[in-house]
Amino acid sequence: AMFENLSKRLEGIFNNLGGQGTLTEEDVNAALREVRLALIEADVNLKVARQFVDRVKEKAIGANVTGNLSSSQQVLAIVNDELVEVLGGEDGNNKLDLGGTPPQIIMLVGLQGSGKTTSAAKLANYLRKQGQRPLLVAADMYRPAAVNQLKALGRQLTIPVYSEPAGADPVDICANSLAYAREQACSVVILDTAGRLNIDERMMNEVINIRHRLQPREVLLVADAMTGQEAVRVADDFNRAVSLTGMILTKMDGDARGGAALSIRTVTGVPVKFMGIGEKTDALEPFYPDRLASRILGMGDVLSLIERAQESIDQEEALKAQQKLQQGKFDLEDFLNAMRQLKRMGPLRNVMEMLPGFNKLAAMPEMEEALEGDQLKYVEAMILSMTHEERRNPDVMNGSRRKRIARGSGTTVQEVNQLLEQFNEMRTMIRQMSSGKGPWAQMARQYGG
Ligand code: GDP
Repeated sequence: AMFENLSKRLEGIFNNLGGQGTLTEEDVNAALREVRLALIEADVNLKVARQFVDRVKEKAIGANVTGNLSSSQQVLAIVNDELVEVLGGEDGNNKLDLGGTPPQIIMLVGLQGSGKTTSAAKLANYLRKQGQRPLLVAADMYRPAAVNQLKALGRQLTIPVYSEPAGADPVDICANSLAYAREQACSVVILDTAGRLNIDERMMNEVINIRHRLQPREVLLVADAMTGQEAVRVADDFNRAVSLTGMILTKMDGDARGGAALSIRTVTGVPVKFMGIGEKTDALEPFYPDRLASRILGMGDVLSLIERAQESIDQEEALKAQQKLQQGKFDLEDFLNAMRQLKRMGPLRNVMEMLPGFNKLAAMPEMEEALEGDQLKYVEAMILSMTHEERRNPDVMNGSRRKRIARGSGTTVQEVNQLLEQFNEMRTMIRQMSSGKGPWAQMARQYGG
């Protein structure tokens, strides 16, 4: 998962540091040496890693001068700030600039296989959700399948795609697409330009020509985060040739070690504006340095989690559930609803990853299994095999009822038992939460729940 190894390493370093009481400069230096190694192992550019650690050291020692350096918490806070900084800073320059008279033009450039065509469709889908009317333009005439791929994605999303027959000139295609966009009252035009396997002069010339002729508001490089420092070099080359306004880092859902995300901004000076986190057309997110930093440090990304929940959860249902919870009532019907809502938020693993301390949890073998398997299907089948009385009052469940449910849902009595146990645990947790006692209530308070 995203930043998994780096995150584990850093957590280990800070756990160690936390065990030492008052810190000496030597303790801090030793920990920072390890931080530097962890960064390098995550494929972060050597120079960036060194600068990073130097800045943390400077600030930590500065804090010491004023007599404040007493805990690993403070070092952690400084590391957090510096992570935010290398990822692009706080002020959210991840925003696209789409002001001015429509249609505005976004030009995508990048190497073949980086995810350019997929990202074009994802971006169109994202912008439509923001109230824009996008037009996709198939100007990658070099990769044979690219035009058809974009057309298929457009059909799937019901977003118009402008294309011309094989042999057409990419610069003309882009220019002609503008007239079409005006005709169709599109507010934003996304150009999928030619990729090559490697950077070569012809591709660069084509990209330069399109940029010159169309004067796009945004020129975004699509770069594959899995390729690490190679992505950084490619970004540097493109930036020198066409002067980028931003980047989309794709495949951040894979086991990319994080080096590209952590170096690319510092090396090129170009902000990362989006990240791709999957193959589907909705797997694109704005790139938020502060949220990513807190994910890297194992502090979770509670903000993104809440946003995702707000998008996918039925507010009325949620309100009803909340009222029941406050009364300490919770039955299997609610359990099923909660699981269904959770499922709508995307793969369970992605959701869990945003929770604080998830790395430790995910390392447990039981958890691995639960996250990979399609558990919900069976849970659903079991609960649907119960009578309404059983769902509302699970305490009536005796042996013969359990057998009947197992038969009806194609599961085993053991699995039914397991579900009921899980449900009981959850109910206890919820009762504790609604009474304000216990560890979960504390956690809920801590995160403003
Ligand atoms: P192009 O040659 O740059 O246009 O690349 P494509 O858009 O065809 O993408 C290449 C491959 O990468 C395809 O199999 C995509 O499904 C995949 N891909 C693109 N973006 C992502 C991403 O964010 N995550 C994952 N896991 N796969 C991606």
